[in-house]
Amino acid sequence: MNIVIIGGGPAGSEAAYRLAGEGYTVDLVEKENSIGGNLNNWYQLFPDRKPASEVVQGLQQHLNHPGITLHIDTEAIGITESAPGKFSVKLSNNTVLHSAAVLLATGYKLFDAGRKEEYGYGIYKRVITSAELENLFTNHSLATVYGDTPQRIGFIHCVGSRDEKICNYHCSKLCCITAIKQAIEVREMLPEAEIFCFYMDMRMFGPGYEELYREAQEQHNIKFIRGRLSEAAENINGQVVIKVEDTLVGKPLRMSLDLMVLMVGMEAAAGSGTLAGSVQIPLYPNGFIRPADPHTGTNLTARPGIFTAGSCTSPMNLTDTLTDARSAAWQIKKWLTGPDKQ
Ligand SMILES: Cc1cc2nc3c(=O)[nH]c(=O)nc-3n(C[C@H](O)[C@H](O)[C@H](O)COP(=O)(O)OP(=O)(O)OC[C@H]3O[C@@H](n4cnc5c(N)ncnc54)[C@H](O)[C@@H]3O)c2cc1C
Ligand code: SF4
Repeated sequence: MNIVIIGGGPAGSEAAYRLAGEGYTVDLVEKENSIGGNLNNWYQLFPDRKPASEVVQGLQQHLNHPGITLHIDTEAIGITESAPGKFSVKLSNNTVLHSAAVLLATGYKLFDAGRKEEYGYGIYKRVITSAELENLFTNHSLATVYGDTPQRIGFIHCVGSRDEKICNYHCSKLCCITAIKQAIEVREMLPEAEIFCFYMDMRMFGPGYEELYREAQEQHNIKFIRGRLSEAAENINGQVVIKVEDTLVGKPLRMSLDLMVLMVGMEAAAGSGTLAGSVQIPLYPNGFIRPADPHTGTNLTARPGIFTAGSCTSPMNLTDTLTDARSAAWQIKKWLTGPDKQ
């Protein structure tokens, strides 16, 4: 029996490998020209600083399986169901794939920092995103666009998350730990720099996260200031001047920075809604795909035979994504070997 998996990020790749191992044939569709999804944007992963490229290579090797057909540079644009359990997935190259089950593993997209105009992204050149900082790590240089080495760096948490002004109420779950990982990496490259994290709450839910937070304070002299950024401007030296209300001491704070890093949050991937909508699968108000049941049916959708895996349903770290993908593979096998499918 054939299964179509939409999305060749960690979730889709892991599920493809598991399902092929169970003897199914799998069409894995990825709209970019390589697999690995958002992992291709990261240099080293929290919590253990494993190179993201190693994980991507591992996923690629697993896909080298005779049961898996890869369709890269190809977007899935719609799903139809002609009879119960008979699905057709239309691709951007006009091919149609037929399958007995479909797995949505369409992932997430990063928040567009330009939507928070008051932070000056795209206007002030010393304001960059966490994804752009990863790029600097990959190139082993923290030089700003002006060529200087920053001496005072500020990480701004919750950019595009937990923000009613832009109607994103959810917490992206991973940007606090990413800020800590990145602050430590900056410290290692710039031992003399002053490094600040401006946060609303520190959310350290995963294994090793709280320990890394402690290490950042005790061993790396990273300063944590509780307060939300209200305004950013540029001074005559080209530095970014920020205003923050320090909510622990109850005083406003002004500081000039050589580099300001926006911890951009996770939003639903653009195509998820279209695909889910084509088979009447509901979404959460923030655009992530709504599972059949938030407790007992997290890989299931309102449409039997269509499943989800990974961060297309909510922000998720890599560990949880891979676990979710294996769970989805098991759910698909259960569905395909169930009484209706014999
Ligand atoms: C700033 C930041 C840093 C992070 N760092 C870490 C870290 O250090 N450690 C960690 O554990 N986690 C980290 N994460 C989380 C990690 O990126 C995710 O857990 C992981 O990428 C989720 O995998 P996924 O397959 O669900 O989604 P994605 O990685 O988003 O992959 C989805 C794939 O689906 C494809 N796709 C979407 N729609 C279609 C379509 N219609 N047709 C075809 N293909 C489609 C996309 O092109 C993409 O390749 C970080 C997240 C952020 C925001
Ligand atoms: S993980 Fe931290 S930075 Fe990210 S949205 Fe949640 S509280 Fe804000």
